[in-house]
Amino acid sequence: MKPAEPPISPRAQSGERSRLAQRLRRVIRGEVLFDAASRGRYATDASIYRVEPVGVVVPVDEADLLAALELARELGVPVVPRGAGSSQCGQALGSGLVIDTSRHLNRILAFDPAARTVEVQPGIVLDRLNAQLAPAGLWFPVDVCSSAQATLGGMAGNNASGVRSVVYGNMVHNVVGIDAILADGTPEHFGPFGVGATRALGSARASAMVSRLFQLAAREREEIERVWPRVLRRVGGYNLDVFHPVSVRPYTGDGSVNLAHLLVGSEGTLAHFRRLHLKLAPLPGHRLLAVLSFPSLPAAIAAVPEIASLGPSAVELLDASMLVPLRGVRTLRPLVDTLLAGRPAALLLVEFAGDERGPLLRRLRALEEGVAGPGAQAAFLEVADPGRQRLVWALHRAAIEGALVGALVGVGARRPVSFIDECAVPLPRLAEYVEAIEETMRRHRVAGVWHGRASVGALSLRPLLALRAGEAAKMRPIAEEAAALVRHFGGAFSGGQGDGLAGSEWIERDFGPRLARAFEEVKAIFDPDGLMNPGKIVHPLRMDDGVRMRVAPGPARAPADGVEAAVARCDGNGRCRALDSGAMCPSYRITLDERDSPRGRVNTLRLALEGRFGPEGVGASEVAQAMALCVSCKACRSECPSAVDVARLKIEALSRRPQTLSRGERLFASLPAWAPMASRLPWLPNLRDRVPGMAALTGRLLGLARRPLPRWRRDTFLRAWSQRAQLGQGRGAPAADGDGRVVLFADCFSNHFEPEVPHAAVRVLEAAGLRVEVARPAPNDPQPGRPLCCGRSYLSAGLLDRARAEAARTVAALAPLIEEGADVVGLEPACLLTMRDEFRWLGLGDAAQALAGRALLFEEFLVRERAARRPMPAFLTSPWQRALLHGHCHQQAFDAVPDLVQVLSWVPGLEVASAPAGCCGMGDGFGYRADGHGASLRMGELGLLPAVRDADASTVIVSDGFGCRRQIADGAQRGALHVARVLEAALPAGGVPILRPGGAGG
Ligand SMILES: Cc1cc2nc3c(=O)[nH]c(=O)nc-3n(C[C@H](O)[C@H](O)[C@H](O)COP(=O)(O)OP(=O)(O)OC[C@H]3O[C@@H](n4cnc5c(N)ncnc54)[C@H](O)[C@@H]3O)c2cc1C
Ligand code: SF4
Repeated sequence: MKPAEPPISPRAQSGERSRLAQRLRRVIRGEVLFDAASRGRYATDASIYRVEPVGVVVPVDEADLLAALELARELGVPVVPRGAGSSQCGQALGSGLVIDTSRHLNRILAFDPAARTVEVQPGIVLDRLNAQLAPAGLWFPVDVCSSAQATLGGMAGNNASGVRSVVYGNMVHNVVGIDAILADGTPEHFGPFGVGATRALGSARASAMVSRLFQLAAREREEIERVWPRVLRRVGGYNLDVFHPVSVRPYTGDGSVNLAHLLVGSEGTLAHFRRLHLKLAPLPGHRLLAVLSFPSLPAAIAAVPEIASLGPSAVELLDASMLVPLRGVRTLRPLVDTLLAGRPAALLLVEFAGDERGPLLRRLRALEEGVAGPGAQAAFLEVADPGRQRLVWALHRAAIEGALVGALVGVGARRPVSFIDECAVPLPRLAEYVEAIEETMRRHRVAGVWHGRASVGALSLRPLLALRAGEAAKMRPIAEEAAALVRHFGGAFSGGQGDGLAGSEWIERDFGPRLARAFEEVKAIFDPDGLMNPGKIVHPLRMDDGVRMRVAPGPARAPADGVEAAVARCDGNGRCRALDSGAMCPSYRITLDERDSPRGRVNTLRLALEGRFGPEGVGASEVAQAMALCVSCKACRSECPSAVDVARLKIEALSRRPQTLSRGERLFASLPAWAPMASRLPWLPNLRDRVPGMAALTGRLLGLARRPLPRWRRDTFLRAWSQRAQLGQGRGAPAADGDGRVVLFADCFSNHFEPEVPHAAVRVLEAAGLRVEVARPAPNDPQPGRPLCCGRSYLSAGLLDRARAEAARTVAALAPLIEEGADVVGLEPACLLTMRDEFRWLGLGDAAQALAGRALLFEEFLVRERAARRPMPAFLTSPWQRALLHGHCHQQAFDAVPDLVQVLSWVPGLEVASAPAGCCGMGDGFGYRADGHGASLRMGELGLLPAVRDADASTVIVSDGFGCRRQIADGAQRGALHVARVLEAALPAGGVPILRPGGAGG
């Protein structure tokens, strides 16, 4: 094999690199990232490989893109185009100059709903594009499972295909034109060619190239006809068949040539895409879905041809084992239980879509009778409701993401590895192929996970290998046999995932030496100097070349916990770059900077652990920079398929930083220590927002943002509660059955700034017949007069010892009550959920574990009590018509928002709607920092604040987070209420709180 990439000399790694960076900075306005952290962050994608680029350029516009390419060409530096970097075969990795278009070149440039076309820049993400098309009843139908992060440029680069590819085909069937920049810098439009072409080639260079391509294709015509795999899906090699259509699904309706189709699937090796012209499809009026469960994988595969004959829009295979971990996701658990009830081994999700329901129903019935009828092995579950269908597809995506990253029960050190993924085989031979490859796997004593596009015969098989423990050696023999089997059954080795570093080596097996040489000629025509993403498709390296493996051999088991474990778990799938689904990640969403994504943060930690930033390791400034905008919302904790909890990693990183805290940080962190004093003299700290100039002064001295601070109160809840106890007020005896006892945890925020909240909670709980006690320090506490605290503010500053000490006080105070069987109820999600989460890993022993199991949010407790048949108060008709609900980000991360919705639904006449998911931007007091204020408001503007502004006067804004309520007040000038206060207002004689935008209602 020829060397794949012109090696970058050692000199280029230092002096030449900085000269290149300097020259780039002179010609482009976008980011030029040549530091070790940036290069390391772009050294991985969602594959098993790691190749460090010489540097990264993030162009702000097309002029920048052209300038960067021109300079790279002049200096002979290879370029690696990159979108989201979610490829699984290493397509977006290389040692040259990475050009990331996802941050700035991500707009829709033209949209013609009548013609059903759209022109986009390459960095736009599929979900974002489709969200903008949906109001016109249209979509771009290449619905890849990575739609939350995949860019259209990357999709075109990979010739990506979606769940419904049996109807809509791959990218090649849906791209109608590409404005590209050729290797010599010539801009050219590639589109329909010959008769019917609307645009002629503009450059002599392109015309010359195209005539050579036609000659080459004519020469290879017979070989193309003889060798080309006749399958529904193939993405390997170059699409030379544009000139002689032989694909089962032709690229154009009339067999004409569209030159853009040759560029689709070229993985950045032929030209750089500047703009894409896409064909759109109408959103179907109806979708019907059924889930078929089979006792064995062969039984499921055997049913595929018959199902395919009914004309489904999707047939997706899932190994039942992929569903098991999803039992842990509360919203999916009931569905998982239903689907796994008969202990199936494999499932097929079968969808029919179209504009008329009748014909779809008939096909669904035919499916039920044919495949799942009497005597058949399959169980049939019809999913008619569109909401439930969405849930099934959410489960499908979660299962695939889990399978990709190894979140499978019992996998241990072994993880699914992508190297024989989505081999495509003609449907009639699919069962034989599966049987044969299963036999191969058995012989090599390797288990695997199956899923994939059964509709087009492109199934993913991910062997479970412990690469760290040297099992990479098993890849080659398995791949050799798989490639031979695929060929034997008339299939295509690369049916879906692309070639990249993992698959390019196998192209010659698939297409034979003659066409492999023809592909090299195609490459030479476009890129004579071999500077466009070298090493992919032609002149490949060996797929198991250890130099490029991300996971170096080492201990067989990854560490179980902490930074090292998170780094080992993250597979770079890029789900954390999602912009339009779920809550992840507010800081990435406002900057679109890879550094600010959870993946970027974990990669930075990886580099720190490797010592790339010097002896400070995880405490290095590069890590602090990557963590700077993290608001500890924990969205990544619940939404990352690898369950990487960056909020926790941030705490660990902060705790290891060498420098001392600033005055402001120290003040924030130690709030629990000085809050009692401040509440005795509240006028003093409150002067800050009353005396002109004080806000500016505190900004300078303490780094505080120029926004009003919460108003200190003298009438704290705990003081009022003590007085009440002294007066002997409140419900005395416990309920008759003796179990009506609850311990209320009055957090610092509720106690000092908004005592109405705990008062309201007490009223509601007592109205439910409960005896409320309030958590107090233990009798032997050295500071018995100081309220208990969860220690969150210390955690946020990385002061682990101080946090541990606060947590230990709280655990000591609550442990006896827990032992007596009491539940602890909290009101502020950040505080209460710290007991459930961080308390567990602070090393506080069994008592902390017990508390974690009994600590409930107010609404969780009410829902549980009602389920246990405790009568709830008789709520009267709501004073408001609607409630707009914003779940605190930790409530979202802990799946607690449904309980919030449920308790609000108990109020007669109150219609409940949810604000878009996501963090308000105030996590860990971020918005009170001068350097966080602007970013915090931008996070609020991502969804919450516009939704609040849209709410009319008869709508009450509900949020349990103190910081969220402050953000709503400051950012949208609306008051907001804790749910306890909404319920209190609906109690007989509850009284409607007055909502003040400047505060949280009094
Ligand atoms: C959980 C998960 C599920 C997935 N599901 C699917 C699936 O259903 N179907 C599927 O096909 N793939 C799937 N993938 C793989 C991958 O996400 C897709 O192929 C996706 O289209 C890649 O987009 P990207 O923006 O990440 O591209 P990148 O990985 O950044 O780039 C892909 C290729 O395109 C090239 N490229 C990028 N931009 C340009 C440009 N402007 N000009 C020229 N070349 C360019 C790159 O050099 C590279 O070779 C999945 C991946 C994951 C992690
Ligand atoms: S905690 Fe929130 S802000 Fe921080 S990385 Fe995770 S998703 Fe992003």
